[in-house]
Amino acid sequence: MSIRIADTVREIPRSGIRDFFEVVQTMGDVISLGIGEPDFATPWHIREAAIYSLEKGRTGYTSNLGLPRLRRTISDYVYDHFHVRYEPLSEVLVSIGVSEAIDIALRALLNPGDEVLYHEPCYVSYAPSITLAGGVARAIPTYAEDNFILKAEAIEKAITPKTRVLMLNFPTNPTGAAMPPEELEEIAAVCIKHDIVVLTDEIYSELTYDGKQHFSIAAVPGMKERTVLLHGVSKAYAMTGWRIGFVCAPVELIEAMMKIHQYSILCASIMGQEAAVEALERGEQSMVSMRREYELRRNYIVRGFNDLGLECFRPRGAFYVFPKISTMGLSSREFSLRLLREKKVAVVPGSAFGPSGEGHVRCSYATALDQIKIAIERIGEFCEELRVS
Ligand code: PLP
Repeated sequence: MSIRIADTVREIPRSGIRDFFEVVQTMGDVISLGIGEPDFATPWHIREAAIYSLEKGRTGYTSNLGLPRLRRTISDYVYDHFHVRYEPLSEVLVSIGVSEAIDIALRALLNPGDEVLYHEPCYVSYAPSITLAGGVARAIPTYAEDNFILKAEAIEKAITPKTRVLMLNFPTNPTGAAMPPEELEEIAAVCIKHDIVVLTDEIYSELTYDGKQHFSIAAVPGMKERTVLLHGVSKAYAMTGWRIGFVCAPVELIEAMMKIHQYSILCASIMGQEAAVEALERGEQSMVSMRREYELRRNYIVRGFNDLGLECFRPRGAFYVFPKISTMGLSSREFSLRLLREKKVAVVPGSAFGPSGEGHVRCSYATALDQIKIAIERIGEFCEELRVS
């Protein structure tokens, strides 16, 4: 008997990253620049807070929206870091990572056929999440020549009468691009003019380098009421496995998302929520020291690629670089597969992040510096061999 799978699910492609890493797992001794998660363990004081809460026997469900204490902490944290004030008990929802937040926000906003714009190359889940929510995914390409910044004119050109939502992700996975506040202000003006809701995934916001401050579009006057701000503790606090994210949005949208969340999820795990309170209230110092380490690695890896003759844009945030490999005469998939087989270095083909990622590979520097140094040497040998062949 063959079980019929729903059309929307059948038509969605498998993640290009997952496929690639199935090959990696069959091989030993690989240096991986492929993984998009911190190589640090969660700081000890955060783990200890979770252990303490377990010892106290706090093991039950929480409020659907999340622990009130955590929502108050999130509200203060968002005010300090993003300069926007959200009412803790009605404008904040604690989710299972930003992943769940993306899903429920899109499902709460879209009617079938509504269009969602997003900048590409982008995080692998955006287009499938839009499709699964019944929407139509419309990519706006961004380019290395523009430092992968999204231009307000490009958005305006892509808008149709069906456009409902614009998804933003700065700093960006996979390019590390960050947006100057002036450019975000121009985008905000376009969204206000065309009555578009902005879904902004700011999961990498703390990982902004060169002494620059992250700036959120939610802070632009007139934007709070049309912005869904998504954030979480996975990246900056090295807490990917705890699965805690959050959404800050206008009350009516939180209520709509809550309907989906309460029936499909109930609530995020209490242990994760207790740990997130500690991270957001007392984790600043640990976060800053991890950020310092990422910044050193970024400086090294950007120089490394450019010295090899692979043009590499200097990203302002996140923990990825996106060097150009099109000059080597291979597609990004061929380049990545051969680099893996011949030199045992794993990178992710740029095409996994949408057609406009072709010609590049994504390398994560959430990997120890000594490993990065060896990886750069091996990539250098690989390129030399390609050039003479
Ligand atoms: N958004 C972006 C841009 C990401 O890169 C990732 C993970 O790689 C996520 C969301 C998922 O975050 P979370 O662990 O909070 O679900």
